[in-house]
Amino acid sequence: MEIYADNAATTKMSKTAIEAMLPYMDEIYGNPSSLHSVGQSANEAITSARKRMADCLGCDADEIIFTSGGSEADNQAIVSAARIGQNKDKKHIISTAFEHHAVLHTLEKLKKEGFEITLLDVHENGLVSAQQVSDAIRPDTCLVTVMYANNEIGTIQPIEEIGAVCRDKGVLFHTDAVQAVGHVPINVREQNIDMLSLSAHKFHGPKGVGALYVKRGIRLTNLIEGGAQERGRRAGTENIPAIMGMAAALEEACAHMDKNGAAISALRDRLIAGLSEIPHGVLNGDAKHRLPGNVNFCFEGIEGESLLLLLDDKGVYASSGSACTSGSLDPSHVLLAIGRPHEIAHGSLRLTLSEETSTEEIDYMIQAVKDVVEYLRGMSPVWRDLVNGKNKFVTK
Ligand SMILES: *Cc1c(COP(=O)(O)O)cnc(C)c1O
Repeated sequence: MEIYADNAATTKMSKTAIEAMLPYMDEIYGNPSSLHSVGQSANEAITSARKRMADCLGCDADEIIFTSGGSEADNQAIVSAARIGQNKDKKHIISTAFEHHAVLHTLEKLKKEGFEITLLDVHENGLVSAQQVSDAIRPDTCLVTVMYANNEIGTIQPIEEIGAVCRDKGVLFHTDAVQAVGHVPINVREQNIDMLSLSAHKFHGPKGVGALYVKRGIRLTNLIEGGAQERGRRAGTENIPAIMGMAAALEEACAHMDKNGAAISALRDRLIAGLSEIPHGVLNGDAKHRLPGNVNFCFEGIEGESLLLLLDDKGVYASSGSACTSGSLDPSHVLLAIGRPHEIAHGSLRLTLSEETSTEEIDYMIQAVKDVVEYLRGMSPVWRDLVNGKNKFVTK
């Protein structure tokens, strides 16, 4: 059996998305900025894609900017809010300790420029509260940026409440919604969101394309200078095939969201129940406020990397957390942020499901993980010390 359970890292493109792209690599190849008919056909296609994406998010078409992906959207949103703040002598930004590195590294850069950054603590269940945000806002706060759903542990934040606090206090609110868009219902107006980042390859669209929703009236800072594309806010000839694939993937995801969400959540809960039978393991992140497809566990006495390699041998393609930090020996900043001690944060496993996952695959994964954990513990000196009572277990 071969099971792809790393959908938080990237997803397989849907047939609908692929088919939507093909004409724009073939007959409709014009440059949308050209005035002739070939260019204008391309321009009309982009206009329609922008409108369809806006409809999925509950905003207007002119509030959508196409980018090269989630990272660029995060960078542009945060830098723009910082420049707006700077002009008013407001140089304080609030975020959380478990954001994606596209956010954290942008904030570090701004810190070197003299911005003050407050990273909110994340509760052990993987959630931050609107009250925490409210308590941290100061007269010089120019931006609150809190991710919609965490990419490692899948917890969904109280975005509407956080947005309401920000709106009430007149502070811009950005959310990195890369893991949430196409998976849970989102309406930027109802949820008080000023800026939102998304990425196509996390919802069965192509890689290297994403978007930033930016509420009308908020002035964006360009990261890329050049032509007047995206109404002067992002230069460069548009990646039309990718944009068409993204719009088709988002429409498809939104049309089937209720049905897919319910089915995937049921599989997730079956997987969580099965893996909970393994002794001295713990589910990371709240079981309820959680993305439909996310399962993340720590198992004591083992190394996440060995677990992944042995699962790969059994045809299970999983992750220890973030694809961006794999290859580094540091434990995940997300697991440390929710208070997991170093020794167990190393033994993490993330399995992320999609609408293609079957019940049979879930049951196969449960058995595979049980077998591999038992095998690894059988030869682990760390485990032996725990069993002998030389060291103490931190989980039940
Ligand atoms: C994947 C991801 C990103 C980066 O998106 P890219 O399109 O790969 O640049 C940013 N934030 C989160 C939460 C993600 O999961």
